[in-house]
Amino acid sequence: MCYNQAMKEKHTIKEHILVCLSSSPSNPKVIKVAAQMAKVFDADFTALFIETSKEITPENKKRLDENTKIAKQCGAKIVTVNGDDIAYQVSQYAKTSKVTKIVIGRSGYKPNRFLAPLNFVDKLISMASDIEVYIIPDKVQKIYIGRVEKKQFELPKLTWKDSLTSLGFLILATLVGAVFQAFNINVSNTIMVYILGVLLISYFTESKFYSLTSSILSVLVFNFFFTEPHLSFRAYDPGYPFTFLIMFLVAFMASSITKKTKEYSRKSSEKAYSMEIMLEMSQMLQQCTNNEEINAVTRQQVGRLLECDVILRTENEEIQDKIEKWVFKNNKQAGHKTDNFSDAKYYYFPISNIDNVFAVMVILKSEISEFEKNLVIAMLRESALAYEKDAILQAKNELLIRNKQEELRSTLLRSISHDLRTPLTSISGYADILMKNSSKLSEETKNKVYNDIYDDSVWLLNLVENLLFITRFNNNKLDIKEESELVSEVISEALAHLGIKKENFNIETYIEDEALSAKMDGRLIMQVIFNLVDNAMKYSPVNTTIKVSAVSEGKYVRISVADEGNGISDVNKQKIFNMFYKVNDSVADGRRGLGIGLALCKAVIDAHGGEIDVQDNKPKGTIFSFKLLGDFDE
Ligand code: ADP
Repeated sequence: MCYNQAMKEKHTIKEHILVCLSSSPSNPKVIKVAAQMAKVFDADFTALFIETSKEITPENKKRLDENTKIAKQCGAKIVTVNGDDIAYQVSQYAKTSKVTKIVIGRSGYKPNRFLAPLNFVDKLISMASDIEVYIIPDKVQKIYIGRVEKKQFELPKLTWKDSLTSLGFLILATLVGAVFQAFNINVSNTIMVYILGVLLISYFTESKFYSLTSSILSVLVFNFFFTEPHLSFRAYDPGYPFTFLIMFLVAFMASSITKKTKEYSRKSSEKAYSMEIMLEMSQMLQQCTNNEEINAVTRQQVGRLLECDVILRTENEEIQDKIEKWVFKNNKQAGHKTDNFSDAKYYYFPISNIDNVFAVMVILKSEISEFEKNLVIAMLRESALAYEKDAILQAKNELLIRNKQEELRSTLLRSISHDLRTPLTSISGYADILMKNSSKLSEETKNKVYNDIYDDSVWLLNLVENLLFITRFNNNKLDIKEESELVSEVISEALAHLGIKKENFNIETYIEDEALSAKMDGRLIMQVIFNLVDNAMKYSPVNTTIKVSAVSEGKYVRISVADEGNGISDVNKQKIFNMFYKVNDSVADGRRGLGIGLALCKAVIDAHGGEIDVQDNKPKGTIFSFKLLGDFDE
C-alpha cells in the first residue's frame, strides 16, 4: 500500500528541467537537447542565465542574446540570477525551484592545474547532489575558446578624468609617505598608505587598467622614494623584492575585490531599480479604471525602464504602419531597422493574451538587451492582464446596466398598466354617463363629474410628464443643459402648472431676493418643484398651508417645499427616493402613485451636482429641500 502510494507520488511529481544559458556557441545544442528532454518528460522547462560581475564583450553578448532567443523558441522560461559563483547559483536556483534535472554543456571551466578549485561540473554535482545532472559533450568549445580569447582582447577604456584621479592618489600617497619619513614613522605604514591609495583609485576609476597600473606604479614609486638607496630603483635590503611582490599582490587583489564589489552594487542597484519599476507598475495598474489609464501607466513605466520614448497604438484604426499591423495580426514581436544607413532600430511588442492583442507598443530605441526585453515582456504581460480585467469588468457592468434597464422596463410596464387603468376607467366611465344620461343629471352632479374627469386627466398628465422624464435618461445619466435662471420665475412657473386643485390649499411663497438666480436646467427644476408641491397636496389634508421658499446658503441656493401633512416615518425617509418606492398607507386621494416622482427629482438634482433631502416639519408635516449652485454677482 505504502509502496504503491510512493510509486504513485513519484509519477505524479512534475519534472522540471533546467538548462544553463551562456554565450558559448555550443549552448544552442545543449538547449535543444534539454528542450527535447522536456518534451519527452512533459516537464517544465527553464533556461537560467547567471549574470556575473565580469564585463561581457559585445560579441559574447550578441551570442548570449541569440542563445536566449533559441531557448525561448524552444519554450523555456527565461530566468536571470546574479552572482559570481555560477555552480552555487545554479544549485540554489535548482533547489528552490524544484528542478529535477539539470542539463549543462561541458564548458570551459576546466580544473586549474595548480590552484585547482573544483571544476564547475564537479562543484555543481556536489552542491546539487539530489538532482540529476546531464552533461552534453561539447566539441565546438575548444575551437571557440581559442578563437574568442584572441578576439576578446579589447583596449582598456582610458579617460583623462580617471588618469588624473589615479595620478592624484599616487602623489597624495607619496606626500603622506614623505611626512611619515620626516617623522621617522615606520616604513611599513607607508606601504599601507600606498595600498589604500590603490584601493581608492580602483573605487573611483572605471577600467581595471588603473587598478593594475597603480598597483605596479605604487611599488615602483615606493621603491624609488622610500627604500635605500633613495631616489633609485635599486634596493639594498635582500628582503625588499618579497616586500614589493607582496605589496603588489595585496594592492592588486584588494583593488580587484573593490572593483567587483562596485560592479556588483551597480548591477544590483540596476536590478533593484527595474524591479521597483515593475512593482510600481503592477500597483499602478491595479488602480487603473479604464484603458486610457492602463495605456498611460504602461507607456510611462516602460519608458522609465528603458529611458527612451515609447508609443502605444491601441485602436485597430490607429495602427497604420505595416509592421504594427503585422505585430497586431500575428501577435508576435518585431524589430525593425529605421533606415539603411545606421543600426537604429525600433522594437515592436504586442500587448496580448492568447486570444487578443490589446495594443502594440513601439519602443524607439536602437538597442535593448535580452534582459531588458524579458522585463518588458513581463511588464506587458501585466498590462495585458489589466486590459483583460478591464474588459471583463466592462462586460459585467454592461450586463448589469442591461439587466437593470430590463428590470426598470418591466417594472414600469407593470406599474403603468396597473395604475393607468384606474383613472382611464373612471374618465371613460364618467364620459359614458355624460353621453347617455346628461339630461337626467342635476347641475351639481354634472359639476362633480366634470371635476373628477379633470382631476383624473391632470393626474394622468403629470404621470405622462414624469414618464417623459425617464426618456431623457441616457445610460442611467441625465443630460442637462445648465443656464443661469431666476429662481422666482422657475417657482412661479411650476406653481402655475398645478391646476385648480391648488385652490384647496394655502400656497405661500418666500423668495429671499427676487434677483436670486442659480445654475440649472430650468425645465427640469420646474418639474422637480412641481412634483414636490404636487406631492405636498397629495399627502396633506385640504386647507393646510404649503410653503415654497428659496434662500441663499453660501454659494448655493436652497429651495424648500414644506407641508402640514401626515409626515413620513424615519424608515421611509431613507427609501422614498428609490425608484418605484411608495408608502402604502399614505394614499390621500384614493389614487395610487407610481413611486417615480421623488426618484426623478433626486436624479435631476444629482445631475446638477446638488443635494436633495427630507425632514420633518414642526409641528406637523414634511419639508423637502434641495440646493443648487447659485449664480451670484461677485
Ligand atoms: P408617488 O407617485 O407615489 O407620489 P413619489 O416618488 O412622488 O411617488 O413619492 C414616493 C412616496 O413618498 C409616496 O408614496 C408618498 O408616500 C411619500 N411622499 C412623498 N411626498 C410626501 C409628502 N409631502 N408627505 C408625505 N408623504 C410623501
